[in-house]
Amino acid sequence: MRTSATTSLFLLSVYLVRANPIETSYKASCEVCHPTKEGYTNVHLIPHTHDDVGWLKTVDQYFYGQRPDIQKAAVQIIIDSVVDELSKHPDRRFIYVETAFLKQWWDIQNDERRAKMRTLIEKGQLELISGAWSMHDEAVTHYHSIIDQFTLGFGTIDQMFDGLSCAKPKIGWQIDPFGHARETASILAQMGFDGLFFARLDHQDRARRIRDKEMEFVWRASESLGNASSIFTQAFYKHYSAPSGYCFDLVHCNDQPINENPNSGDYNVPNRVNSFMEFVNSQKDTYQTEHMLVTMGDDFTYQQAASWFDNIDRLIKHVNAEQKNGSMINLLYSTPSCYLQAVHRADKVWKTKSDDLFPYADGDHSFWTGYYTSRPTLKYMERRGNNLLQVCKQLSVLAELKQEKWEDLDSLREAMGVMQHHDAITGTEKQHVADDYAKMLYKGMLDCGATAAKAINKLSAKITEAPNVNYESCLLLNVSQCEISESNEKFVVTLYNPLAQEASTYVRLPVQNFKYTVSQGTVPIATQMLKIPDHVLRVPYRISTAVQELVFKAIIPPLGFQTFYVTKTAEESAVPAPVEGDGKFAIQGNLIQANVDPNTGLFESLYSKQNGLKYTGLSQNFYYYLGSNGNMESSQSSGAYIFRPNGNATVINATPEIATFKGELVQEIHQKFSDWVSQIIRVYADNEFVEFEWMIGPIPAELLVNPGKEVVTRYSAQDLVTNGIFYTDSNGRGSIERKRDYRPTWDLDLKEEIAGNYFPVTTFITTKNETEMTVLIDRAQGGTSLQDGTLELMLHRRLLFDDGRGVGEALNEKYEDPNSGASQGMIARGRHLFSFAPISEALSTTATAKARRWSRDNMILAPWAFFAPTDLSDSQWLENYEVLYQGINNKVPENVNILTLEPTKGGEEVLVRFEHFYEPNDDPALSANSLVPIYNLTKRFGTDKMIEEMSLGANRRLAEVSRLQFRMDGAEAEKERNIAPVIDAGDSILLQPMEIRTFVVKNNSGTARFSVLSLVFLLLIAIAFPGQMN
Ligand SMILES: [Zn+2]
Repeated sequence: MRTSATTSLFLLSVYLVRANPIETSYKASCEVCHPTKEGYTNVHLIPHTHDDVGWLKTVDQYFYGQRPDIQKAAVQIIIDSVVDELSKHPDRRFIYVETAFLKQWWDIQNDERRAKMRTLIEKGQLELISGAWSMHDEAVTHYHSIIDQFTLGFGTIDQMFDGLSCAKPKIGWQIDPFGHARETASILAQMGFDGLFFARLDHQDRARRIRDKEMEFVWRASESLGNASSIFTQAFYKHYSAPSGYCFDLVHCNDQPINENPNSGDYNVPNRVNSFMEFVNSQKDTYQTEHMLVTMGDDFTYQQAASWFDNIDRLIKHVNAEQKNGSMINLLYSTPSCYLQAVHRADKVWKTKSDDLFPYADGDHSFWTGYYTSRPTLKYMERRGNNLLQVCKQLSVLAELKQEKWEDLDSLREAMGVMQHHDAITGTEKQHVADDYAKMLYKGMLDCGATAAKAINKLSAKITEAPNVNYESCLLLNVSQCEISESNEKFVVTLYNPLAQEASTYVRLPVQNFKYTVSQGTVPIATQMLKIPDHVLRVPYRISTAVQELVFKAIIPPLGFQTFYVTKTAEESAVPAPVEGDGKFAIQGNLIQANVDPNTGLFESLYSKQNGLKYTGLSQNFYYYLGSNGNMESSQSSGAYIFRPNGNATVINATPEIATFKGELVQEIHQKFSDWVSQIIRVYADNEFVEFEWMIGPIPAELLVNPGKEVVTRYSAQDLVTNGIFYTDSNGRGSIERKRDYRPTWDLDLKEEIAGNYFPVTTFITTKNETEMTVLIDRAQGGTSLQDGTLELMLHRRLLFDDGRGVGEALNEKYEDPNSGASQGMIARGRHLFSFAPISEALSTTATAKARRWSRDNMILAPWAFFAPTDLSDSQWLENYEVLYQGINNKVPENVNILTLEPTKGGEEVLVRFEHFYEPNDDPALSANSLVPIYNLTKRFGTDKMIEEMSLGANRRLAEVSRLQFRMDGAEAEKERNIAPVIDAGDSILLQPMEIRTFVVKNNSGTARFSVLSLVFLLLIAIAFPGQMN
């Protein structure tokens, strides 16, 4: 095994700079806010544009303004126009949000235009808000990718403005996403943000909050992290548009501009002033302070910024002129930061909130719970994109690729940033935009794969003349297609493990009907052949000669790889035949046995070999809802955003055909429910869970004859009394309790009993009493528990009507045959991991923690396979290449995850994030604080490096982060817990439950501080946490 030979000699050369965040406010030169007037209603006018990173048009079409027939929107022109208009008057303000577009604009400007923008930022006229690559959706995104796309946006801004502190975003601006996640709030707080603003919340929640003056609150986003994850949050009164009648956009609106020429026949100042004052008076009492935030803009507004700014100039002048007549309304140009500072100065005590804001409904029959599942194949591709991105980033660091190839990471980094957008991963974009996203992601994956291949070559070459290996990824393994494994006599599979722990996985290679040997070094290992199921062989766009899969088990070292050598023998092998007789109703491994009912062929029970218990009364089956296209109660259709079923679900087939295949490594029951619904129930030899690999589609649907359908899978356990309670994850991190027909913060009046009980599931859903039933998923899906003891997940949707939320297309994804032009509905295939186990006594890990871990190991950060054909024999291969590589010593504690390891700043710096993977009550041992000996991880970076701790977004030194602190409601505040002061020990850092700490490894500037006391702490901690030190 190849590990770096260096020891802890470098210990003293690694300096740790650590200080707790300062909690006082400071004023930078750019924070020049217009004065407010005490005793007046101060109306903070926020000029803004909401620029979707793809929706009705592609990203590039929006930037360059192409396809004006679809939407008159050109972001390039917007930014140009705003820069010019801001420069005309120092009072004017504007905010800009989407860094993907800002970067595109920046790249085509000359130095003069760039300097002009920089000056506007320095003077506080232009404020960059949020600063992520796109405005991410909050329901279906994973925290890994959310943090990544903020890091990308922040890094890009730093690069554009040379780290200018005024350019660093301080406000979360999630104005359009369709509901809001607790984990997102927590992440924004940890980025160092002062506050969070949004527009969309459930209409009943909004009415209640307006009534009780609770549109502002402090969101306590993590029990574990306390204040570090609390953030001041404000919901807008209605939407993010300008007040009705005051949209001054020449392209999008027809509202009257202000004519202030008293000699003109159309002079309209009194009318325009009075109705604006009426608007202010109608809303001002909703808020707790004498400050009111009013958004002046909308989607893609400000293409002719002059009309906005000229009119807002006049509005401010004339409304404020009324003060001499006794008006108590004071208008000012403002930004969310200036507004928030004013609110903060009011020093109020704020109500708190600790649940989330899902699901979102904008009407009694309009629950935005369909998009949790819409476009399941794009959602899956995005999740694979993250998996590969982490692999490439890590390998770039481990192989020290520096300037050579690291830039190729950017295409996938950017594609993943775009995918997080609230009309990308959500599936709420037009079809041609979805196609463009897929293309962008595919290109990113190819580029990233090329970088990874380069890194593996560098890390594995034993001798300088070792020939370059052309490693490729097989991106269609989910339909058992891989050109390299199918058509070569000899090939290698190199599996890279992005986890900081050893990984164990079963590899499946699509192959022809021959015998194969797989060797580790030159030693053959155990393999098994499996028949590729008929339903996969029939997939119309599958181009493959493979008829069977070659299966073997691989153990891969942390941040390391292992190469397996595969040879096709001359001997043909018959495709494995199904088992006959009673044996076909049960499949088993070393830990569990899963059984189907001999009468129905449906899953019915599970036997645990570990505790000897058999769980009967289990079941799983597929159902569909017919999508509504409106009825007497409401004209609302089911569509890309909205789920509105027409009645209860219908079972697709209660007695599927089955065929069972058995071997030493894996056993499978293939089920056929219909021509468009099939499944494999699978048990691997050493896994504790049952896999359900479903395949849905083409869903039959034809206009007028055959309504659109939404297909679900339902797992149930008889007699599991759960009192309507179940749990889902939040962006793949903490878990949130859900209760059927209930919302924690208002009295729910539920008119859609199915759609209104759907919640976003990013990685798992679970329910329990004495036993717990958990389902892990491989992409985001909508999920619920409509009856006690059941878990339901929506897998696929094909609908024929638009749901009236702007996209203007039905969600009807099709595959078109390139030859015949014939089309049929899109097929989706995916995996669920199912677990059913007793909640045993104190010494066990909670179901949610186990689910998070399984999800991480099997779905999110699964080992990635790189394939390459070869002419070398296995012994020749060994002469040329290392076949086993471990990137770090196996010293990362079991409860710690390396969340990030990536090169930044042209490979000059390395970004590392450590994450404590458990919540305080997850596990008696693993929930303990953990010490990470970071010299083990950083020694490779050399003696002249230092480590500096950063805020979560990696754009501010943690020591320099200052956040506005807001006082919280008394009773809640008493319970408030601050995470204890961090004790670091020289060469180690301490992680507390659910904590993420972010570091950059950079050149030592000579100013690093080193605590002599740290050695003392090291001894103390060694006593307190003996299990964590080795
Ligand atoms: Zn939007």
